[in-house]
Amino acid sequence: MSDTFISIVSEKTKQSDSKRIAEKVLRYLTENRIVKSELTDCVLSGNGHEPAENFISILENPNNGLLELSVNGLQILTERQVFDNGGNGLDGVLCPNCGGNQIEENWGNALENWQDKTQSDNFKCSNCSLEFPITAFQFEPKWGFGNFGITFWNWGELKSEFIIEIESVIGTELKVVRGLL
Ligand SMILES: [Zn+2]
Repeated sequence: MSDTFISIVSEKTKQSDSKRIAEKVLRYLTENRIVKSELTDCVLSGNGHEPAENFISILENPNNGLLELSVNGLQILTERQVFDNGGNGLDGVLCPNCGGNQIEENWGNALENWQDKTQSDNFKCSNCSLEFPITAFQFEPKWGFGNFGITFWNWGELKSEFIIEIESVIGTELKVVRGLL
């Protein structure tokens, strides 16, 4: 069986703030009994927080089978990374100026440069010839690029009220990335 995930990503959080924000978000999630505070191997790689008794309160649809799954945790990520949509496939990498789809072009290097911060992450659109940071292009399905994100494994769709609540805990807007591995 494949595993689905939803990541909510802050693209505006600075690296130096990501750990502090992680603590705030975890405090909110544990106080509301959405996840447990201890870390276990309940995510695909690394450690995460298992669902607690109120986990269904943040879900759009009931997910009664979640507690029986071995991969059912929340992972908190505090390092700069590309939050992609896993093996779901990518339909578009759209230029922020002309909307031209750059999916067939070699944008992967620019993305690596963004990740490594070694060279410029600008990418030149083959359609309009303007250059923008690769993270300004619109990935379809949506990808996120940031220093902070939380990933729910196999929880299903989250309520929009919950996303708004986490936005107010963090103090920045969030991007929702849906994927499958
Ligand atoms: Zn363009």
